[in-house]
Amino acid sequence: MKIKAAVLNGLHQPYEIEELELSEIRDDEVLVRIVASGMCHSDDVVRQGYTEYQMPIVLGHEGSGIIDKVGKNVVGYEPGDHVVISFAYCGHCDSCLTGLPASCDDWNHLNFHGKRKDDTPYLTKSDGTPVTRFFGQSSFSTFAVVSPSSLTKVDKSVDLRLVGPFGCGFLTGSGTVFNGLRPEPGSTIAIFGTGAVGLAAMMAAKISGCTKVIAVDIHDHRLELAKELGATHTINSKNADVKEAILELTHGKGVNYSVDTTGVNAVVRNSIDVLAVGGSVAPVAAAREMEINTTNDFTMQNRNLVGARMGKAVPQLSIRQMVDFYKAGNFGFDKLAKFYTFDKINEAAEESLSGKVIKPILIMDETYAPEA
Ligand SMILES: [Zn+2]
Ligand SMILES: [Zn+2]
Repeated sequence: MKIKAAVLNGLHQPYEIEELELSEIRDDEVLVRIVASGMCHSDDVVRQGYTEYQMPIVLGHEGSGIIDKVGKNVVGYEPGDHVVISFAYCGHCDSCLTGLPASCDDWNHLNFHGKRKDDTPYLTKSDGTPVTRFFGQSSFSTFAVVSPSSLTKVDKSVDLRLVGPFGCGFLTGSGTVFNGLRPEPGSTIAIFGTGAVGLAAMMAAKISGCTKVIAVDIHDHRLELAKELGATHTINSKNADVKEAILELTHGKGVNYSVDTTGVNAVVRNSIDVLAVGGSVAPVAAAREMEINTTNDFTMQNRNLVGARMGKAVPQLSIRQMVDFYKAGNFGFDKLAKFYTFDKINEAAEESLSGKVIKPILIMDETYAPEA
């Protein structure tokens, strides 16, 4: 079928909206009409060439939409279902069976191979050039063929335009706290970086009952928003000594938990140094190599370093949970979002990169309106 997609034809190029051919679904696949898609930094990472992909490619991995067609072996989904699209996983390897589907044995193939296992492409140009699929979805598009393992159903009263980012950025941020760190009520936490991932982590910390939720960033306007969303304290690390400020807020002890969402070595360093005895740090962002002293930084302080890939989340469980928190008024992520029509994708990418907008969301289906 013919679809419209934002194609990246080469590194550092702008997105170009083109008509592409999307392959028919197979028996174990689902066709989703995309209503909206969040833009995430991982999309831009590809555009800037930090990870290598075969171009042309259609990016986008925070899609939400309405199921159009279901393969005959797919159970539990039908046309008309409203869905959020997250990563794909096999469902039967050891990682999947132990609740860590983001570490699925088949993860790379299912999400990043860009074609089917038999090497047939999902997307092609009119001249036959294959176009790489991204993150198991390629949601910068009017339609996507996906695995049912990527799908989470949401009820029709939920505004589909808002929930795409539940599939990646918000999933990672909230899951790092809920599933990775698991702070107990009354504990303290510092979140470094207040982008989409950091703010989701912060909201999760608040929900978990942390009494001090300290947001650290270098942008005052972001820290203001952090306060609105539940940070009890904010620190602008440009004009304050972060370690001193956090010690002061925690009776000289340090925080019980910290999350780094920046990947900047000096900030990761701070996220370790501000921990109390017995504290745990979760580094989320892709970081460069850095030196730590395992004895002094961790062993002697009984501290822990916690890995939580994609927030250790099972998307179907975590996304439903986030929707419920949102409905209950505890997860005000809509304050981070700005809508753009699909043709404004390059503007959206720019405003995201400059830090002006935290979570740009592209609207592919302008006729969509949430059910009352
Ligand atoms: Zn992402
Ligand atoms: Zn698996």
